[in-house]
Amino acid sequence: MAQSVRKLFDIDSGALSNPLNVLRRVWGYPEFRGMQGEVIRSVIARRDTLVLFPTGKGKSLCYQLPALCMKGTAVVVSPLVALMRDQVEELKELGVVAGALWSEQSPSEAAEVKGLLRSGELKLLYVTPERIAAGGLASMAGSDGLSLVAVDEAHCISFWGSNFRKDYLALGRLKEMYPGVPIVALTATADPHTRKDIVRLLNIPDSEVFVDSFDRKNISYEIIPRSNPKDQLLDFLKRHEGESGIVYCLSRKKVEQTVEWLNEEGIRAKHYHAKLDPALKAANQDAFRMEEGLCLVATVAFGMGINKPNVRYVAHLDLPASIESYYQETGRAGRDGLPAEALMLFGMQDIVQRGRMIDEGDATDQVKRIERAKLNALVGICETTGCRRQSILGHFGEYHAGRCGNCDTCTKPMETWDGTEAAIKALAAVYRTGERFGVGHVIDVLTGKLTEKTRRFGHIDLAVFGAGKEFNAANWQSIYRQLLALQLIRVEHDEFGALKLQASAATVFKRERTVTLRRDRSMTRSQQRQENTSSYSSRSGLSERDREIFEALRLTRLAISKELGVAPYVVFPDTTLIAFATRRPSTPDEMLGIQGVGRTKLERYGSLFLDALELALR
Ligand code: ADP
Ligand code: ZN
Repeated sequence: MAQSVRKLFDIDSGALSNPLNVLRRVWGYPEFRGMQGEVIRSVIARRDTLVLFPTGKGKSLCYQLPALCMKGTAVVVSPLVALMRDQVEELKELGVVAGALWSEQSPSEAAEVKGLLRSGELKLLYVTPERIAAGGLASMAGSDGLSLVAVDEAHCISFWGSNFRKDYLALGRLKEMYPGVPIVALTATADPHTRKDIVRLLNIPDSEVFVDSFDRKNISYEIIPRSNPKDQLLDFLKRHEGESGIVYCLSRKKVEQTVEWLNEEGIRAKHYHAKLDPALKAANQDAFRMEEGLCLVATVAFGMGINKPNVRYVAHLDLPASIESYYQETGRAGRDGLPAEALMLFGMQDIVQRGRMIDEGDATDQVKRIERAKLNALVGICETTGCRRQSILGHFGEYHAGRCGNCDTCTKPMETWDGTEAAIKALAAVYRTGERFGVGHVIDVLTGKLTEKTRRFGHIDLAVFGAGKEFNAANWQSIYRQLLALQLIRVEHDEFGALKLQASAATVFKRERTVTLRRDRSMTRSQQRQENTSSYSSRSGLSERDREIFEALRLTRLAISKELGVAPYVVFPDTTLIAFATRRPSTPDEMLGIQGVGRTKLERYGSLFLDALELALR
């Protein structure tokens, strides 16, 4: 154990062999979360270790804490410079000697980091994959050498995941280059295929594997048909005034339009997509990190490397690509463990569009088949009448008993009805029009709409024309989506989204099965709106007074963060400020007992926050 760490945290060498002591002294956290303790023991015992935790469970600690307990310098491979800098900043705030090396760094900064590496003072060194592949780090390190190599976002090594990075392949040589140094691979992508790839490509066949539950209990899920997207989004954002969040759109154009009208509505929003001018892109990403209460509207190009812990909401205005992407994107909310909300709007059009994107893509037929199956699985989750969390986790192979109490189908149970007659009409309309038309036209036929197309094709003479007037077009949309989820129909993407009957439709025609449908939510929207206006304070359980104090402390934090040029959450996360507001410590000792207050932060900021508290309590 390096002398410097011992001195810094006032820990005697006995205490250093106890990871829990280090957690409490340095991070100020009372306990390990989930499997962290076990992982850390495995790493300290110098075993290769694979860590599969969902976002927000605290993967970083799994290598940061062992780095402090072990001799030598830990090397952390990270795919993004922004991410590296963020983590180094946070570690420095905790009083840990950490640095990063990357190619565009200023020579003086690089020289300083190298100096600390040589002297052995550096406990954690963050590098890009190219840098570690270039070699030489072990010989540069001090006499204790390297303690461990951590590979963050390890799924980037696999072709399978959506984030394959060629430069990660070079990491296959780590075992050869640094023999005897334990490798810790970490990822939030759990599918078996990716997992196998990581073990094989990193050459760690005997690694200890830790898989934590993928359930993110603090995130509530709501998935609703898109009826009036502007109002639906505004209702949602009103519940999050003063908080930060992400709104995902499918296209660049929609990102830009959405930002424009949000700004017109007086909501502070900025945009982000792959084609944005690089300087603006960086500025907007930085603003999201540093500021509070900003809505970032983006394509999926945004997100990797964002480890802001207090993202309070994620909204999808369009159907995501798969359940995996949905879970990854919504997982960016609520890393701090406080309540966070995920909203998705979707419609039949999305399903058609996604299907077309798959078909027109240049993937092989086999991959396209997998992608189509993934799309169907996602539609199934959108249309389920059961607990969303149960079906999402089920998709990842994890059992959940359901009735989570924190998804829309649990909190506002879906009313169901016997939709057999409606299903027969809907299927008949598809059949009678020759299985050649998209959902819009088929609904025009059912509702008896006189259009150029219904006339031209002679559909006004069909028995099904106008046979479905008891429902409006939106209701029929919902019925068709559910028939799709029940796999009674499918969308033929090659033929401009024509609906086709599946073989199983015959059993419905013959009345051999009943079709249970859920009541369309759009019918009961105004009532819902009233229920949904709960504010942040009631959701996180803060009283009016505590909320005021919390706001005052946030201002103090903002001032400090501006002064130091670091993100507010680097000073203290929201969880700590909330604990200050509710427990109202009046001495440094009382403060030290609070989650997130380690020795170094107490020394740096303790008195500032004690003063702020005293002032707020007057
Ligand atoms: P991941 O990389 O798995 O998404 P992080 O390592 O970024 O998660 O951790 C998420 C948040 O949880 C961070 O703000 C971190 O400080 C906090 N955290 C990690 N471990 C603990 C713990 N044992 N107790 C309290 N908070 C923790
Ligand atoms: Zn539920």
